[in-house]
Amino acid sequence: MALPVAEWQGRTARLWAALEPALRERLAAASLQDAVRLGCDVLRSKEEEEAALEQLCHQAPMDKKPEAASWYREQGNREFKRGRYQAALRLYSRVCLEDIARAESHGYPDRLLPKVLLRKAECLLCLGRLQDAQDVLRVLESKIALDGAMTTHLTRLKKLSQLKVKLGEKERCPEPAQGEHGGTQGEPEIWEENSSISGASSSLSLSFDAERGRHLVASQDIMAGQSLVKEEAFVSVLCPGESLALQDGDTAWDTRATNADLYCHRCLRQLLASVPCQGCSYAQYCSQDCADRAWQQYHRTECPLGALLLTLGVFCHVALRTVLLAGYAEVSRLVEGSHCGDKNLQNPEGSCRPLSEADAGAGSRGVPGCDSSGRYQSSYQALFHLLPHTEQHSPEHKFLCTLSVVALCKQLQVAGLEAAVLSQESPQQCSKPKTCEKTSEELSPELKTVAEAMLRHMLQLQCNAQAITVMQEMGPGDGAVVDKKPVRLATAFFPVLSLLNHSCCPNTSVSFSGTSVTVRAAQPISSGQEVLHCYGPHWCRMRVAERQQLLRQYFFECRCPACLQELQSGVKSVVSIRNSFCCPKCQAQMQGEEDTLCCSIEACATSASRDHLSGRLQDLQQEIKKALELLRVRKADQAIKKLLKCQMDAGTFLSPEHLLMGEMEDHLAQVYATVGKWQEAARHLRKSIEIVEMHHGPSSVETGHELFKLAQILFNGFAVSEALSTIQRAEGILSVHFGPQSAQMQELQEMKACLSELPRNILQRT
Ligand SMILES: [Zn+2]
Ligand SMILES: [Zn+2]
Ligand SMILES: [Zn+2]
Ligand SMILES: [Zn+2]
Repeated sequence: MALPVAEWQGRTARLWAALEPALRERLAAASLQDAVRLGCDVLRSKEEEEAALEQLCHQAPMDKKPEAASWYREQGNREFKRGRYQAALRLYSRVCLEDIARAESHGYPDRLLPKVLLRKAECLLCLGRLQDAQDVLRVLESKIALDGAMTTHLTRLKKLSQLKVKLGEKERCPEPAQGEHGGTQGEPEIWEENSSISGASSSLSLSFDAERGRHLVASQDIMAGQSLVKEEAFVSVLCPGESLALQDGDTAWDTRATNADLYCHRCLRQLLASVPCQGCSYAQYCSQDCADRAWQQYHRTECPLGALLLTLGVFCHVALRTVLLAGYAEVSRLVEGSHCGDKNLQNPEGSCRPLSEADAGAGSRGVPGCDSSGRYQSSYQALFHLLPHTEQHSPEHKFLCTLSVVALCKQLQVAGLEAAVLSQESPQQCSKPKTCEKTSEELSPELKTVAEAMLRHMLQLQCNAQAITVMQEMGPGDGAVVDKKPVRLATAFFPVLSLLNHSCCPNTSVSFSGTSVTVRAAQPISSGQEVLHCYGPHWCRMRVAERQQLLRQYFFECRCPACLQELQSGVKSVVSIRNSFCCPKCQAQMQGEEDTLCCSIEACATSASRDHLSGRLQDLQQEIKKALELLRVRKADQAIKKLLKCQMDAGTFLSPEHLLMGEMEDHLAQVYATVGKWQEAARHLRKSIEIVEMHHGPSSVETGHELFKLAQILFNGFAVSEALSTIQRAEGILSVHFGPQSAQMQELQEMKACLSELPRNILQRT
């Protein structure tokens, strides 16, 4: 996904192995500039490689729309059956608008167009896009006037006037936009921007030392929940292709709705009605404005290369978009500047140094990436100075990146897109690309500069790529209890966020809204302490060995307190203790690192093979999946039966604190909630919360989400006083991680308001 497709990786690996040893050595030691030059030579002599790449492009899944349309229709049907008409209508509208857009662009028979346009206006009206609806109605009116009444049925004219009346009504008393109302509730956040680091709080300062590189330190005492960084991504690219498991169970994968169908390709907002790109079937936007801006800033160059970009992977795509956003003038200025300082860049970098470190030897010149006034901005300059670790990547990987970037730049040249890359010409001027015939032509010096910058960005991404995640609704979601899980949505560069070093037990929490990130203190941080965030391997989720393995891609060894403790004292990680097996006879913990596990109670002396227990665990997971499938098709009674059986079975070989034990309780709570058995649901969820607290800590996001669910259940079950106290606990945790203005906080506020307005006779029932 991040890297090119496997076939292209395989081809470049074979090509690498077949190169002359001398050339391999030169490539391995080459600067970025030389790597591009050598890469051009290699690719020029291997035309079959380019042909193969072109072949691979034909496999790229560019056309997903028919599947998406049927998916939306299906989802609409589900909502309709549940009586959620508003939601159903929105989903139907999504399909309908897509069909209409296609009808318009494919020369729909003229006499049928009024019907299609009426439908479109209706959809837009329902979605609250009044201006767009009005525009469509105007087009329709002029069309009818032009054709004369002969071709237009009276029913259509009636429909038109009905729609106009509705539009007028909506304009007079607009409904609040969904999800955006009440944004002023809650306490305003304290936010004072740092005078020398854009997007950072004034309570931080930028430090630099050889061991940690650039890093952020608290310059005063910080409270839990305080915002520390608010930054807009310099660049972001939607990750395509990953099917979202919107419901549990295998069938979710058949619907094939992916990020690319559900989110705006520019601002990452969820799509209600999409504005598709005129030039390709892939890019979709939330509005005409996003479509226009994306076109202007980068998509006019990317659009003709869609399949190639999907084939070469997201990192390559991010690298291209980065240089397009930066503009050629800035790219060439910094690339040329780096050649003068190449001696510095060539210095061997330490092997155990954390991410975000500065260029070697730059300490005396101040912190790299800062502008002339010493200010660190979320800019291309700062991004350019993120370390590419040129020396530390494997030569094969560098070769893969080099060939990919060179192939992409050659394609830019062949497709006549060079002018668009090098200048800010208006889209009209370059709408007629002049294609040049010979594919073996040498890259222009300007495109070589672009390729060099892109290669740098591809290498930087290995350490500095930031995944943008969203909370995606999971489970059957019948509206009463909403279960949400984080899903990877896009890959981005955040130059300021990249200043934070990693810890497996971080003191911050990161959340996203569209393409912007907010970092909050997850706990009090005292003045002088480093501000840290977790790149992924968290101590609650993985053992130290797994974490260190994952962190290898960042070219450093983690020395956070969690790692030191687990490594040095041989303390078993919480993960292994809590997720252990128990003795089938006496329920005590099973021990041993080998193939055979023994009961920890000596007198019991029961032993079991690890493989056998792992097999049972897998079977159990399969059964749980089946139970969730039953829930999905609304066979609640059978789902409950199955889950209770799973629980019994699990009790005979899993530790009572095993994460899966908690998950089963959570699932049971979900099922009981769907049939309105609120007390049962609450009972199971409380058990789940106990286990989640044990694994992730009482003030963790995970615990916060569970409390949020419990609040919903208690709310629905009119358990007023417990609901209010649970809401309060959830607020305390979620405001720290997501801030007082977040959607979750708003929902909690609304529940609270609703409970306080309940009439007395209902309150007395509880
Ligand atoms: Zn958008
Ligand atoms: Zn396009
Ligand atoms: Zn660590
Ligand atoms: Zn035992």
